[in-house]
Formats: sequence, structure tokens, C-alpha cells
Amino acid sequence: MEDLNPFKIAQAQLDEAAKIMNLDPQAHKILREPMQTVIVNIPLKMDNGKTEVFTGFRVLYNNARGPGKGGIRFHPQETLETVKALGAWMTWKCALAGIQFGGAKGGIICDPTKLSSGELERLSRDYIRAIGKFIGPKVDVPAPDVNTNAQTMAWMMDEYSKMVGYDEFSVITGKPLEIWGSEGRFNSTAMGAMYILREAAKRMGLDLKTARVAIQGFGNAGKFAFDLVTKLFGSKVVAVSDVGGGVYSEKGLDYDKLVAATEKGGSVADSGAGSKITNEQLLETNVDILIPAAIENQITGSNASKIKAKMVLELANGPVTPEADKILSQRGIMDLPDFLVNAGGVIVSYFEWVQNNEDYYWSLDEVYSRLDKLVTRSFNEVMKTQEDYKAKNVKITLRDAAYIIALDRVAMAMKSRGWY
Ligand code: NAD
Repeated sequence: MEDLNPFKIAQAQLDEAAKIMNLDPQAHKILREPMQTVIVNIPLKMDNGKTEVFTGFRVLYNNARGPGKGGIRFHPQETLETVKALGAWMTWKCALAGIQFGGAKGGIICDPTKLSSGELERLSRDYIRAIGKFIGPKVDVPAPDVNTNAQTMAWMMDEYSKMVGYDEFSVITGKPLEIWGSEGRFNSTAMGAMYILREAAKRMGLDLKTARVAIQGFGNAGKFAFDLVTKLFGSKVVAVSDVGGGVYSEKGLDYDKLVAATEKGGSVADSGAGSKITNEQLLETNVDILIPAAIENQITGSNASKIKAKMVLELANGPVTPEADKILSQRGIMDLPDFLVNAGGVIVSYFEWVQNNEDYYWSLDEVYSRLDKLVTRSFNEVMKTQEDYKAKNVKITLRDAAYIIALDRVAMAMKSRGWY
């Protein structure tokens, strides 16, 4: 049975890349664990007058290249292990993207569907009060993530500003535009993935105009990916799923029908846009491009041999397990790793932080064009690293290549700073 503890997976990926690239053992030792882990217990007066206690985390994984950067998740099954793993992945993601951030992540164990709007606001503000000493524009810059959004960030920015006594917009990103969020942040993750897809399709000789696509997950990432892949390239999305199941249509699914079904809180499975399929069937659908955009550990040792797509575009974090990685690679499926594919969100977060620091704001076109440049550069660097190793007769996956670039950058920064 594969061990699916997310932090063990993150460490296993790190260990493998460290071995291939002969990473200095001292750098490796530093990078196997987060630099700082904060655990807070927040007493919250509920609407019914009773007090509940919520546990929250903020992990600063590594800050050799700049302030910590990473989202805050509200989730009933949140664990420190998940937050640590996501903090590690943020470190590699920011390093690969070549932006001036380290990696961090945060979370609160809570079920936001069971909290009133007032309780959510108080919890968000109290969490910032509790971790306030450990964040800051030059220390650690949070952002939205699972079950948090621009409103949550606005409350958090406001509370931090009250703590320091002045408006500190650059302490947090993913804010609404009216309090100096960035243009383009809303679909930046999916947009970044589209630039990667465009470049990868060119390399494979895959014509995106006739390509068939399956997408798992119809939330922030998956929904925009559907919209963009059809609008930008004319590809056909034949299968989509969410936590309630999926739908399939040979002639292509109707986006508006899926949106209508999910806006009312329902599942794409009940949209009537196509015939019903399960999530397992979605992953194994005969398509050119499979986009996992839901949760981690979806393509595993047990189903990787049944994947029929020519390309897996990992929009979700950690959707492919290490065992599945090997199988996809042996089968010649181009698996584009998460921290390359989904870096668009953090890159535009970085743009937001830069704009807040400069008090000067860019147009949507400028944001997209800068995003395109950064992700295309990362894609080319990853492909080149894989080719360089191939020339030395060492076969590595694209994930290994992305890790090698990122680890090298973080290790070099730590070395220059005299950490080893
Ligand atoms: P979301 O909560 O908006 O949407 C998640 C979607 O996945 C929903 O449609 C949900 O029904 C579906 N889902 C949940 N559990 C599932 C299951 N067991 N089987 C099938 N579908 C399931 O989240 P999101 O923001 O779209 O994030 C999705 C993934 O993308 C996550 O891994 C997240 O870390 C990653 N990601 C998102 C962003 C972003 O900017 N939104 C950035 C980087 C990475």
C-alpha cells in the first residue's frame, strides 16, 4: 500500500531529486523540514454565545530567497502534515518561477459551511491576531486557498493593518480590486496553465484545436481551465467531474449548463450536460489531455496504467503519487508537474505584492503578458534540464527536472547567505 501522507510524499520527491542532482547533504538536511511551524488555538465566541476552540497553523517552510508565500486553507480535515507539504511545494514553486519569495502555508481546522458569515469573519481576524507576529510584507505573505477567498483576505488585511496602525496592503495577496488586489488574479492559475499547455502541445506536435480534454474538479481552477481551453484554443472538453461525480459528452460539454448546475450548489453530475460517469471513469477517459484540478492523490499506483491521455496537466496540487509518476513516465505520457503548471496563481500574487509595494498598478494585458513570460521561461528551463540529463544518459521525469532547478536555486541562496 502506498503511503499517502502528503509530507512524506513531499520529502520522498525531494529525496529523489536530491539524489539525481547530488544535492549537498547539508542543503538537503535543511530542506527536509520547515524552518518555522506555528500552531495556535483560537477561542471563538460563536453566535449562540458559547465558545469553541479552533486550531490553526502557519508554516514558514523556507525563506532563503525571500519572504514566505502561501495560501491559508479552511478545512475540517486540515492537518499539520498537509500544511507542511504544501509549504514545501510553495518553496519549490516560487523558486522555479524565479520570483522573490520563499514558501509557506497556513490553515485552520474548521468546516466553513457550518459557520455563519460573522463567525467566519471573527475567525479570520482572530487567526491573523494569533499569527500576526509571524507574518508581514517582508516576512511571510499569505493568500487565499481552499475555502478562503478575496473577502477573507480583505478581513485579514484589515485586521493586520489595525495591529500595526497603518494600511498594510502588501501583507496579503488575493485581495479584492478595490483594496488593491491585482487585475487577473481571479483566473491566473488556469491562465498560467494555458501558457504551459500551449508550449507543451507545440513540443508534442499536438493540435489543440482538435484536442479532447477531461477535467477533474470544477472549482476555481477547473472551471476557468474549461473556459480558457475552449476559448483560447478551441479544444473540446468531453468530460468533467467534481466531488458529486462526473459527466461525459462526445460532442463536448456545454460550459453554461455546468456553471448553472454548480452555481446552485449542485454537482456537474446533475447538470444534464452529458451522460453520468464516475471520477474513476473520468480519469481513465480516452482523451488527449487530462487536467486533474480537484484534490491530491488521484492518479496512483492502482490506476496510472489505465490513464489513456497523452498529456497530464497537473492543475491541482499533488494529484499524481510518486508510484504513479514512475508508471506514467514509463508509458511515455507527458506529465506536467503541479508546481510548474499551477504557478500562475502565485506569480500574479507576486505581481500584486510588487504593485502594492510600488503603489502603482498594471493593466490586465500587462499582467497576462508578464505571466506568460515567466511561465514560458520556466517551461523551457524544465524541458532543457530534462534534455541535459538525457544527454548524460540519465532519464528523469519533468517533475524531477522542475525539482532540480528549484532545489538548486534555494540551495544556492542558502549557500550565499552562509547557512551551510
Ligand atoms: P475549489 O474548492 O474551488 O474546487 C475544487 C473542486 O474539486 C470542486 O469542484 C470539488 O467538487 C472538486 N472535488 C473535491 N473533492 C473531490 C473528489 N474527491 N473527487 C473529485 N472532485 C473533487 O478548489 P480550487 O481552488 O479549484 O483548487 C483545486 C486544486 O487546484 C487544489 O489542489 C488546489 O490546491 C489547486 N490550486 C488552486 C489554485 C487556485 O488559484 N485556485 C492555485 C494553485 C493550485
